[in-house]
Amino acid sequence: MSEFTGSCHCGEISYTVNAEPLRQVNCHCENCRKTSGGPYLASVFVPEDSVQIKGAPKEYQHLADSGNQMTKKFCGNCGAQMFSLGSGRPGIVSIRGGTIDDLEMIQPTINVFISSKIPSTPLDNSLVTFEKMPS
Ligand SMILES: [Zn+2]
Ligand SMILES: [Zn+2]
Repeated sequence: MSEFTGSCHCGEISYTVNAEPLRQVNCHCENCRKTSGGPYLASVFVPEDSVQIKGAPKEYQHLADSGNQMTKKFCGNCGAQMFSLGSGRPGIVSIRGGTIDDLEMIQPTINVFISSKIPSTPLDNSLVTFEKMPS
């Protein structure tokens, strides 16, 4: 079984995942842009029970356009966004790709919410694109 690790910038929160990613997505939605501070977010979905977290992330909750309740977990010290859970995907957690240590394992296959992408953000045209989030 594969394993990968990651941490926030200051190191107060770290994690180990004991599973292959279920899906990897570059998300250009406004929620991801505004919470991450980046032009888009590389999101790596894994089973929640495969993630072991060291440290105690803070939580922020909001409603997605879909009506799902979203819970974002972030480092209360350095502010790095680490994880996101949605009521529409129970048992699955999105790991914020920028926190992963092994850069080679970040291999997104789709771009989602390109309807709200920043016009100047370049797109990898080898990826499948979706206007919104496919189910
Ligand atoms: Zn931190
Ligand atoms: Zn998003």
